[in-house]
Amino acid sequence: YDQENEIYPHPRWVRINTLKTSWDKQLKSTFADFEETNVLENVLKASKNQRIFHVDANVENLIALPPLYDTSKMDAYRKSLLILQDKASCFPATLLDPMAHDGDMIDACAAPGNKTTHLAALSSSKDMPSGQKHIFAFERDTKRAETLRKMVAQAGANELVTILGSTDFLQVVPTDDQYSRTTGILLDPSCSGSGIVGRDEEPAFHVPTIPAQSAIQPGHKSKKRKRSRQVEKQRAAESPPVQEESIEEADDETEKRLEALASFQLKLLLHGMKFPDARRIVYSTCSIHVQENEGVVIQALMSEAARSNGWTILPRMQQPPGLQAWSIRGLRSECEQLMASLPHAAGLPSAKEVAEACIRCEKGTAEGT
Ligand code: SAM
Repeated sequence: YDQENEIYPHPRWVRINTLKTSWDKQLKSTFADFEETNVLENVLKASKNQRIFHVDANVENLIALPPLYDTSKMDAYRKSLLILQDKASCFPATLLDPMAHDGDMIDACAAPGNKTTHLAALSSSKDMPSGQKHIFAFERDTKRAETLRKMVAQAGANELVTILGSTDFLQVVPTDDQYSRTTGILLDPSCSGSGIVGRDEEPAFHVPTIPAQSAIQPGHKSKKRKRSRQVEKQRAAESPPVQEESIEEADDETEKRLEALASFQLKLLLHGMKFPDARRIVYSTCSIHVQENEGVVIQALMSEAARSNGWTILPRMQQPPGLQAWSIRGLRSECEQLMASLPHAAGLPSAKEVAEACIRCEKGTAEGT
């Protein structure tokens, strides 16, 4: 929060749930008496009750409202026509781009379900008879799977999504017949959560995924840091038992803990690569650490599984137009260091290409995550 100028670093992002409504309908109803602005900062500076919105340039059907706007009173929100979802959290399903390939989708680590419902919205089209494209949503944690079930139902995605609760994605057999049409995989595994800034007023289903890098006033800082640590602990607890011991023993954000997380994340990514018809995997985290992000991607690209099956990184120029336009990319010098330290880099995309293909989000940028 910039106290001097009274500007919050990020707005309240609202995704129009196209499974239940359309942007045109919402523009004529919910937002009929709102002012539209092309300048995101006008929304950031707006008072909490001001009826003003900004249409996002990178993610379709996403709009920004004033940071403290109370959506809970909006009829459209209560009916799940509007879903609160931070911009960064909308990138993975956008990048997976379900309509760009003709098969089914897997959401490997799905609860609470923000990305599952977004994927469902992007997978359904008037031109496509229902049932043609399907999403399999896996969630290892039984309780969290219940939340996922509720969220999918509320969003109107029941017909498109099969929830496989209490199911470890690593135990799923890639050659199983029911996954033979799977062409896209979204992998958003448990992580350190180091990129999350919590907001106390968020509703229960909302998982903010904004890297916590810019200045926050001291009073807020300790409180938010504390909450962020709680989230990190919770996420560490979600990691597989083999890593739990080292996670518990390690101090907050130590190398050891990040290594344990990264090796678990890599395992999941390599498992995704085994699905015979898979053509695109989107890997995402809410972490700012290179080990959990570019590091995992590079190790996956260097793996035998990737090389023998021809997996490579999707260049920026082949990403959906809204994301091509997104300027904050992977950390190039870290990619260079990592690739120089690993054997067998020959024949792979260069560190520059890898960094350019990765997408990072920063809080409080002009682009507004
Ligand atoms: N994609 C979700 C969203 O946008 O709402 C957030 C996913 S959260 C970061 C990671 C989830 O993966 C947790 O609910 C965790 O229980 C689950 N998980 C962790 N390891 C898993 C595994 N091996 N198989 C299935 N789910 C797993």
